[in-house]
Amino acid sequence: MKTIATLGSHCALQILKGAKDEGFETVIITKKSREGLYRRFDFVDNFIAVEHFSEITESAHLARLNELDSILIPHGTLISEVGIKKVENDLSIPFFGSRGILKWEADRDLKERLMKESDFRTPKIFESAEDIDRLTIVKRSGAAGGFGYFLAKDLASFNENMSRLRSAGILQSDEEVQIQEYVVGVPVYFQFFYSKVKNRLELIGIDRRYETNVDGLGRLPAWEQLEMKEGFFPSYLVVGNSPLVLRESLLNYVFEMGEKFVEACTRLVPPGMIGPFCIEGVYNEKGDFIAFEFSGRIVAGTNLYVSGSPYSSLLFDQPVSMGRRIAIEIREGVESGSIGKLLT
Ligand code: AMP
Repeated sequence: MKTIATLGSHCALQILKGAKDEGFETVIITKKSREGLYRRFDFVDNFIAVEHFSEITESAHLARLNELDSILIPHGTLISEVGIKKVENDLSIPFFGSRGILKWEADRDLKERLMKESDFRTPKIFESAEDIDRLTIVKRSGAAGGFGYFLAKDLASFNENMSRLRSAGILQSDEEVQIQEYVVGVPVYFQFFYSKVKNRLELIGIDRRYETNVDGLGRLPAWEQLEMKEGFFPSYLVVGNSPLVLRESLLNYVFEMGEKFVEACTRLVPPGMIGPFCIEGVYNEKGDFIAFEFSGRIVAGTNLYVSGSPYSSLLFDQPVSMGRRIAIEIREGVESGSIGKLLT
């Protein structure tokens, strides 16, 4: 295994820089329109240029990747642009991490099951809009970036928003939504790495996201917000991430939560968690963490910490990004003969 491969998007620069730092050759699968961008960086050695990322499953590209003795590092763009089915069935190259977890992340029912199995505190889910008895966030299934989510405090406001979104063409008439208790507090994203080589859970970083346009609303006085109701649709599209350090007294629970997630994956998603994952949620008024989401792979918020984070600095004597942490794991897997356990 001598080359680290990834799609040119999301957190590719960080992944390939980390790979180079650990002595690997690198290859990027990039859209032709972005090839120039990636050629600006010396640590990208090989290029596979495509029109659409879904072409990655074509036999010529797979042959080239296998010829380079590549391991593919998955990230959000692989899932959104190639799709889970193709990744599971047609991507015949060594894949770092668990392919199996991807569908647990994408399917709302499976996701809920894995979060329950992990014993997380989660927001209450309302099966029927008639049961809404508090502020809820109503989520579209597979909504790109959370556009078209809305808040509802009872059946009447649910119905009103549903018809508003339907008549604006944002929501299809048969589209399913999930109604979740809205947790007021501080949203926090934990970037974990589970090392199979070391049998160790690591906290690599913490971030919070800036989401448009909801994070802009607080900058307006309430009377302006009330005026805006017509034609205003909230969106939770992530535009950036900012670093966060946690009160140290809260950290113990964070590790407990990460460990329970790893154990739940061992039980439900063989061969279990491998490498990066993220747990996402909100600290409520009591300082309890309520988890509403997980990602079973590297998240883009790790881009904050290309030269290490306050947490990775506690574990390593050199700057270690999540991308570099992946490369260290692969190198140590090769050296110890356990690389087979890291690939699916
Ligand atoms: P999601 O699509 O589940 O990742 O949600 C997108 C965004 O909506 C999150 O990043 C949060 O800002 C917000 N959000 C999601 N679920 C909740 C919740 N239960 N309570 C409060 N905010 C939430």
